Amino acid sequence: MNCVDSLRPRSGLRVIITAGANGIGRCIGEAFAEAGARVHICDIDGKALDGASYAEGRSLCDVRDHDAAGAFVSGAAEAMGGLDVVVNNAGIAGPTAAIDQIDSDAWKQTIDINLNGQYHIAHHAMPHLRESQGAMINLASVAGRLAFAYRTPYAASKWAVVGLTKSLAAELGPDGVRVNAILPGIVRGARIEGVIRDRADALGISYQEMERRNLEKISLRRMVDPDEIAATALFLCAPGGRSITGQAISVCGNVESL
Ligand code: NAD
Repeated sequence: MNCVDSLRPRSGLRVIITAGANGIGRCIGEAFAEAGARVHICDIDGKALDGASYAEGRSLCDVRDHDAAGAFVSGAAEAMGGLDVVVNNAGIAGPTAAIDQIDSDAWKQTIDINLNGQYHIAHHAMPHLRESQGAMINLASVAGRLAFAYRTPYAASKWAVVGLTKSLAAELGPDGVRVNAILPGIVRGARIEGVIRDRADALGISYQEMERRNLEKISLRRMVDPDEIAATALFLCAPGGRSITGQAISVCGNVESL
């Protein structure tokens, strides 16, 4: 295979994506579908799921629920005759506050969705990935390698996702399964506007000032577009990415502090 062809995943890949109805997950799903993959998604946003017609399968499923995650994985695997790619994308921003102002429910909810949800999906999907010698991609964040003041539950959950990724890569590598994490920086979209607003409020500054401070921390001085995350995910599942595993790949324009 020549180098340029090896950048593209083979047609017919059987892909599942959590939280594929909106945002980054949707962009990744649409990119896989455009590349000829069969895509099944889940989400808790029923209305957005209805509109996500790019996906051949759409399930209402909360990744916090171990059994519901199992039903989503096995339903998709049965419908497609197996799984080649699992994208663990569901994640929330969590609260923005000083640690003594973060209540225990908000802490637990962030860990439950961002970390435990990835465990539930990995637990149920791994037998299928062993069978296909497939690939898993876990969405972490640059907050999974940097300190993030006032966003401790989010940072803790994303550092844990990197640990989960590296450990699974070591565990499953001998079976031919690859596991990588993508660490997006600040990705353009509705979610990031909310995060900037919350952090501006926590620091008592304007939205514009918070956005300016954020951009100053990015060497490229711009936010990442969702299609840059999707392109990275596709490459990780293409023949050219076949030796990449256990990596935490930043797609962020070079962010060295948050
Ligand atoms: P988003 O808020 O735009 O979309 C999140 C999706 O997750 C929604 O469709 C929502 O319904 C779904 N969801 C929420 N809780 C769920 C649950 N319990 N079970 C199933 N689905 C659930 O988020 P996004 O910006 O697209 O982020 C996607 C991933 O990328 C997340 O893991 C996030 O932490 C990570 N990330 C995003 C950014 C960014 O700048 N947007 C930066 C770094 C990392």
